[in-house]
Amino acid sequence: MTNWKYETDGDVAIITWDMADRSMNVMTADVIRELDGHVDAVLADDALKGAVITSAKADMGGGVDLTMLAEIKAQAAKEGGNVGEALFGFVWALHSLYRKIEVGGADKKTKKGGKVFAAATPGTALGGVFELLLGCHRRFAADNPKAKLGLPETLVGLFPGAGGTTRLVRMLGVMGAADYLLKGKLVNPKKAKAGLLIDEVVPQEDLVSSAVAWVRGSSEKDAVKPWDDRGYKIPGGAPYTPKGFQTYLGAVAMTHGQTAGVYPQTNAMLSAVYEGSLVDMDNALRIEARWFTSVLMDPRSSAMIRSLFVNKQAIEKGARRPDVPDQKVKSVGIIGAGMMGAGIAFVSARAGIDVVLVDRDQESADRGRASVEAILDKGVKRKKVTEDQKNEILARVTATPDYDKMSGCDLIVEAVFEDPKIKATVTQATEAVIPEDAIFATNTSTLPITGLAKASKRPEQFIGIHFFSPVEKMMLVEIIKGEKTGDVAVAKALDFVRQIKKTPIVVNDARFFYANRCIIPYLNEAMTMVNEGVKPALIENAAKHIGMPVAPLQLTDETSLELGHRIMSATKVQMGDAYEGTGADDVIIKMFEGQGRAGRKNGKGFYDYDEKGKRQKLWPDLATHFPVSDDQPDVEEVKNRLILSQVLEAIRAKEEDVLVDIREGDVGAILGWGFAPWSGGPLSWVDLTGPAEVVAMCDALEQNYGERFKAPDLLKDIAAKGDTFYGRFQPKQAAA
Ligand code: NAD
Repeated sequence: MTNWKYETDGDVAIITWDMADRSMNVMTADVIRELDGHVDAVLADDALKGAVITSAKADMGGGVDLTMLAEIKAQAAKEGGNVGEALFGFVWALHSLYRKIEVGGADKKTKKGGKVFAAATPGTALGGVFELLLGCHRRFAADNPKAKLGLPETLVGLFPGAGGTTRLVRMLGVMGAADYLLKGKLVNPKKAKAGLLIDEVVPQEDLVSSAVAWVRGSSEKDAVKPWDDRGYKIPGGAPYTPKGFQTYLGAVAMTHGQTAGVYPQTNAMLSAVYEGSLVDMDNALRIEARWFTSVLMDPRSSAMIRSLFVNKQAIEKGARRPDVPDQKVKSVGIIGAGMMGAGIAFVSARAGIDVVLVDRDQESADRGRASVEAILDKGVKRKKVTEDQKNEILARVTATPDYDKMSGCDLIVEAVFEDPKIKATVTQATEAVIPEDAIFATNTSTLPITGLAKASKRPEQFIGIHFFSPVEKMMLVEIIKGEKTGDVAVAKALDFVRQIKKTPIVVNDARFFYANRCIIPYLNEAMTMVNEGVKPALIENAAKHIGMPVAPLQLTDETSLELGHRIMSATKVQMGDAYEGTGADDVIIKMFEGQGRAGRKNGKGFYDYDEKGKRQKLWPDLATHFPVSDDQPDVEEVKNRLILSQVLEAIRAKEEDVLVDIREGDVGAILGWGFAPWSGGPLSWVDLTGPAEVVAMCDALEQNYGERFKAPDLLKDIAAKGDTFYGRFQPKQAAA
């Protein structure tokens, strides 16, 4: 199969990428082999001055095909070969090709006689594809504001390991490259030009001709990259210069401060950057390739790729969607124009869906619409949205107290107060006006769906669609099936979530569903420790050390102690005698009832906040209300309590069939509450740690802290049989 078209226009070759069987180009072994052949043809042809590498699709390409990396591993393992060698072979083939382009056949000593390569990207170019651009001598991008350019590898457990790390540091210096390498920052062409990633932004119709003209007019000097010239100095200095020393020290400290050293890819990348800047380009690339291979061999990195790339994509593409016809939403009715309703209205209207936003009176509905406008205004200020786009999106939102206006809606999302009686009244009033086949969804965060569905005449069309706050930022949406929820409702919810470009998980009904069920014990465990006299700073730092992006007391402040108080009180009422209090209850009561500390929302929680709402230090009086004990626990024990409080709930959710698919349990945990992303999620964490080891951790904690740490039977069984969660439950077709 051919993936590239090779033509010549006088003295310039045009090599155009267009994979027949894919909507988006991706780097595969075949693509690399073919391009290598074309590059050789350019180098061997005396009539050519150079070449333009471009794409016939709307975008240049999405990166290296990560599923292929898993295949290379599996194949080598099956054949009894050396997995590391096989991976390095693939990585090195990519490096060699990009370096061949960069050297352009120039004489090694004189640097003369090289051909030039220009890259011309019509749209998005990511990861390994962007690294191809970096190998070229000049980069042209079409003026396409939707295009994204950059190196997102670090977000899925890798780092730019096809020359991107080495080249970007040589181009921009360590500090200049830091955001692109460490944070996977993506930019549009204009910003990429301002940031020196791209040389020229030209109108789409002039893209290839501009690149061809540049190749034709290029000089011999254009064929030599600055770092292949003698005397080249890395911007900001190399590590052995006094200035560079400071920069490198700063970069390492900053990275460790942000990652707590738990991400294998950032540590490897820093090593590749440091060691690579001590040697010449060819050796630097070899060093980068070796570090990159070491990351590919690290099980943590594989777990991250599996959850954050392979399985996330499978879920978004509908791995759990029932086989029913397209259920795309045209018009959504949102009832309750408060914080959540307004956010849901915004993401729906942004996706091109008409919105009827209903509240108790015109004023409240208008307030909701004004919140949508405020979100859009922020976008305009940050230049993410134009004034025209803002008006277009806002025009899709009708604010009204009149339920009849929802008569044309095919989906309803109810987001009124968390009160079953109010929700029941709203359900009945809505069903009286909406079409017979419309789906009714509730955004409840705590009330079981099956119970709420009792108010509905059509329980098979009743479902939970649980958003997280703030809706415009949080990527996870939890879809909850009540006992009677039918397939069409599930498909409708999934199609809606896909339209608004979020990631869904589908779970069965139970108290707190999946995400909140796991978050609450994590927050409670931290507060229980505060009650026991454990130093709050120890708790927060231990959480950071297990890789939680937001520590538990900080997270409690964010979600508010008031909400914690409300959930605790409601749970007590609902469970009656069966309610088993936790040490956290005392803390919530003392903090919220006793001290009026609600969290960030009133500027007073476990932390203090300034007038602008910026978090300051831990509240100094905490120790007065919760005296710190002389005997502080070992940090490892604090870490284990914090991580197991989440992991054990995830396992119990699987055991009780609330969680149907473990892929969703892991993806949902990372996107929903930031569960240690380096581990690939709570169930991957068990597999990485070793199920038997986890059972032993549970036994030790159970002895000291009681039943809540008792190892679930499912975990014990997996450990006893030498199994793993993914070994037992990963769907066959999705093995990665
Ligand atoms: P909110 O108080 O900000 O908004 C509720 C809105 O519902 C108000 O504008 C109110 O006027 C309106 N309302 C009340 N009764 C109504 C009626 N009979 N008809 C029409 N409108 C009515 O609350 P919120 O934080 O947006 O939460 C709404 C729902 O979303 C709740 O069920 C909550 O549990 C759930 N939820 C909240 C969060 C969160 O973080 N706040 C997260 C997920 C889900």
